[in-house]
Amino acid sequence: MKDTFTHQGMRKKLVETLKTKGITDRNVLQAIGKIPRHLFMDSGFVDHAYVDKAFPIAAEQTISQPYTVARQTELLEVKKGDKILEIGTGSGYQAAVLLEMNALLYTIERQNELFKKTRLFLPKLGYKPKRMIFGDGYIGLEDEAPFNGIIVTAGAPFVPQPLLAQLKIGGKLVIPVGENVQVMTVFHRKSETEFEKKEYGEFKFVPLLEDKN
Ligand code: SAH
Repeated sequence: MKDTFTHQGMRKKLVETLKTKGITDRNVLQAIGKIPRHLFMDSGFVDHAYVDKAFPIAAEQTISQPYTVARQTELLEVKKGDKILEIGTGSGYQAAVLLEMNALLYTIERQNELFKKTRLFLPKLGYKPKRMIFGDGYIGLEDEAPFNGIIVTAGAPFVPQPLLAQLKIGGKLVIPVGENVQVMTVFHRKSETEFEKKEYGEFKFVPLLEDKN
């Protein structure tokens, strides 16, 4: 598990690319500049690690495009010590970004092969989520709620109500909503009953599937 000067150089360029694409949150850029994304991919593909593209990982899933990770994280407005729930652990890259920003992270994955792999891998890099759960993100994580932020990293055909219910007042749910193409949507909880909804353009994700596998 090496991180060479070449990797670091490529990462700097990736950060510059993300800036030109409009990412401004310094903590997000700093986290992406620090995390060895190539280690989250199978070793044959390290050349692709610092190109701003999504890439296949195990079990027909993808590691999200760096821009998408950056944009979603920026929209979540993570502060140090925030309690964050991630739906779709996947490779663990998005989780690493949140941990690098000092979030207290809870992350759920429904695909057992990926869950087992990433549960072993993340701590090896020094990234320690509060809990990694093998389960169905549609129902959230009731026993740890409420959260300052919830981030969904798969395309949701509809907004799961438990996720809205598990937000703190003032908290945000960042979720790509749609079937074939998804609209990045943010729900900001204003009170027990009020949510402000804002949309931030189209993205493409693998689907949020029901139940675990
Ligand atoms: N955050 C990941 C992105 C992985 S792609 C990363 O940085 O690599 C989306 C992930 O969501 C996949 O691993 C997929 O298995 C998972 N997923 C899909 N439906 C889910 C559900 N209902 N609950 C939890 N995870 C789910």
